[in-house]
Amino acid sequence: MYKIATPSKTREILKKYNIRLNKRWGQNFLVDPKIAEGIVEAACEAGDEVLEIGPGIGSLTELLLARSCRVVAVEIDPRLTAVLKEFFKDFTDSALLTVVEGDFLKQDLAALAEKHFPRGGRFKVVGNLPYYVTSPILVKLFNNYRDISAATLMMQREVADRITALPGTKEYGSLTVLCRYYADPRIIFNVSRRNFFPPPEVDSTVVRFEMRREPVVRVLDEDLFFKVVRAAFNQRRKTILNALEKSVDNWNKEDAARVLKLAGIDPMLRGEDLDIGQFADISNCAAEYLDYGSKD
Ligand code: SAM
Repeated sequence: MYKIATPSKTREILKKYNIRLNKRWGQNFLVDPKIAEGIVEAACEAGDEVLEIGPGIGSLTELLLARSCRVVAVEIDPRLTAVLKEFFKDFTDSALLTVVEGDFLKQDLAALAEKHFPRGGRFKVVGNLPYYVTSPILVKLFNNYRDISAATLMMQREVADRITALPGTKEYGSLTVLCRYYADPRIIFNVSRRNFFPPPEVDSTVVRFEMRREPVVRVLDEDLFFKVVRAAFNQRRKTILNALEKSVDNWNKEDAARVLKLAGIDPMLRGEDLDIGQFADISNCAAEYLDYGSKD
């Protein structure tokens, strides 16, 4: 193994393969071996089955393999998949590492797991994310939450703050509620922009999402639940009564007032005052008591 996550090794590899990093793909590589170790330590245990998002030149991959994990690494840049296949040839030959060239967002995660993870249980996810696609990646992972036990992801600090925000704060919003619905997210540590090559314009944070086996609240109609949540935060300064009117399907003010009364929620509150249980109550009362068949 090389200890890839150092400034000198990273520069040496990029020079050797004549690779100029592509900003558009969020190619800021981690160049601190202790941070790389910390991420892998938080992400998995020896022998785990791990899906890696955006391996780059393999700074996390080598540490996962050193822990005898079985790794599927999805990388969009063909120049980098070529490097990975050469570096880790012994591991690809023995099928401990599978390098998939392509866009992570287009992968069928269940099919990848079925093909490459023989154990057949829930797998782990790790990645120093390309920040331009953080939200769609999270949504994709949540769409597969039953197959994933935990995801340890480095992301822009401001996004990590929104994900772990408490009700009543300005960071609290629909992303917070979405993440909490499917997972228990915890901040592991912060990472300065100085620990990347080239340094990005923002600082980062590593977050571990413990995926739930079932969503944290019981919801009768998931589409409706997320419509309510989005409406509540779309116009943050409005009261929940005004925010729901006309924004959720074709609810009028009477519908919104009736649902809030049934759910026992003060119509003068704002979306940011409500916790996930209250959003579930609103959407469940609406699903039960509004004439939903005629409203779609
Ligand atoms: N894991 C490496 C590290 O920690 O240094 C690289 C992290 S870098 C922030 C993000 C990586 O994701 C880059 O290698 C980039 O090419 C890759 N990437 C960008 N968009 C992607 C996508 N849609 N699907 C898969 N990989 C992607």
